[in-house]
Amino acid sequence: MRDVREHPKIEADVVVVGAGFAGATAASELARSGRSVALLEARDRLGGRALSHPIGAGKIVELGCEFHLPDSVNARTAAALGIASEKVYDEGYKLIETERRLTRWKGSIPRISPIALADFGQAALRIERMRRAVPEEAPWTAPHAARWDSETMWSWTRRNIRTREGRLLMRLLLEAGMGAAPSEMSVLHVLNYSNCTNGFRAMTTITGGALENRFAGGAQNLVLRIAENVTADTYVNAHVRRIEQGDDRVRVTGPGFEATGRRVVVAVPTPLVGRIDFAPSLPETRTRLTQRMTMGAAIKYLVLYDEPFWRRDGMSGMAISFRSPFRAVLDGSPADGSPGVLTVFVTGPAAHHIAAMEPSRRRELLRRQLGRYFGARAEKPQEIIEQNWMAEPFTQGCYHGYCPPGFYTEYGPALKEPIGRIHWAGAETVPVEYGAMGGAIYSGRRVAAEIAGQMSTKSSTTAVIA
Ligand SMILES: Cc1cc2nc3c(=O)[nH]c(=O)nc-3n(C[C@H](O)[C@H](O)[C@H](O)COP(=O)(O)OP(=O)(O)OC[C@H]3O[C@@H](n4cnc5c(N)ncnc54)[C@H](O)[C@@H]3O)c2cc1C
Repeated sequence: MRDVREHPKIEADVVVVGAGFAGATAASELARSGRSVALLEARDRLGGRALSHPIGAGKIVELGCEFHLPDSVNARTAAALGIASEKVYDEGYKLIETERRLTRWKGSIPRISPIALADFGQAALRIERMRRAVPEEAPWTAPHAARWDSETMWSWTRRNIRTREGRLLMRLLLEAGMGAAPSEMSVLHVLNYSNCTNGFRAMTTITGGALENRFAGGAQNLVLRIAENVTADTYVNAHVRRIEQGDDRVRVTGPGFEATGRRVVVAVPTPLVGRIDFAPSLPETRTRLTQRMTMGAAIKYLVLYDEPFWRRDGMSGMAISFRSPFRAVLDGSPADGSPGVLTVFVTGPAAHHIAAMEPSRRRELLRRQLGRYFGARAEKPQEIIEQNWMAEPFTQGCYHGYCPPGFYTEYGPALKEPIGRIHWAGAETVPVEYGAMGGAIYSGRRVAAEIAGQMSTKSSTTAVIA
């Protein structure tokens, strides 16, 4: 890995912007097919939204992406690289805090009033039926795409769930699972995302669901392993500000550096594309696409204790709340149970609210809420690690960009459509495993194949843009 400040002039067949899962995969695949590549990363590290934080004794906690389905693209990629998966702890009671009380439950169905539960259940079944009609590769071609894309998930919820508790449960699961309020997302977007997690209920389920598995050694390590064969072609501290297309070359520039190539892959989160200047300007449709997609909102807390003491009290460490901004808690302890770690998610509008508070105030509220869930000992952690993804200049929110009404049917096909020598990758550019590690890898492979198909000659590094 090189520092771009020591390499101000770079030439390669393909310049790849952004070294998350998507950019790392694209660069690695292109290099494997014989192209020379330059992978440019604005941060001083690789991984993007994959960020594993060391906590000593060779162990890590995940500040970014964490969970995967066993049959996902990322799980298969990890298995091929010899990276093992480990199970998330899921024994004992879970907690749900409704507007009125804190209740224990077991299994996959939270304990709210039976009427509200039945009300919610019929809506969840309806979503399951609807999502099956959404094609994986092209959600905008679903039979009722126009209708489903014209409505927010919240207005759908209000029409289809009558009880207040049922609606609140729907809001909580969507905010915790997708990082945005249901009033901001289209029904079609939620249906497609449910397909990506093997079903709507699986989105927020541990055993048998999307939260069951993690990568041993961390998700960021998987990015590093994917990028292993392009380590020497990877440049950090390379904040790309401008992309110019000439007749046969592209020029990619940032403070103090210039990279030229025959093609460029832009593998940054789709809403951040608007921060790059393009010459000539991008077509109006592409600009509007970027303006209409917004990053979700999440702050992730890792709260460390000397041991996972809640397990001895018969608790799984999972808690969800209608009332508290600390929407969801999971046991994030390493596989051997030492130290004890609670992973806390603050998502959607609650994340904006909490981010605006003084750091000491929000930590105090967090300690109190954990005390309410797991007793006085939970109020005295050894350490609290806070990761506010909205404050990260090269991510600006998470878990992914979400699609408002009208987005998919208007712009869906354009998400991956190349513009001249510019190609697009990233978790937001593919409907398959959308917004997730697997989608990012899938997009990196797709774009590498697209470029391999379009570049007729092999390496050509002689022409220079005037
Ligand atoms: C808290 C959190 C929890 C998540 N949980 C999960 C989960 O459990 N399972 C799951 O599958 N997914 C999860 N995700 C989503 C997952 O992390 C992303 O979908 C995936 O990592 C996206 O990869 P990417 O390569 O498309 O984008 P990114 O990882 O965002 O990579 C883009 C890269 O581009 C760089 N960049 C940006 N602008 C520029 C520029 N101008 N010049 C140069 N470089 C630039 C960035 O620094 C970054 O490294 C989570 C994300 C977060 C943040």
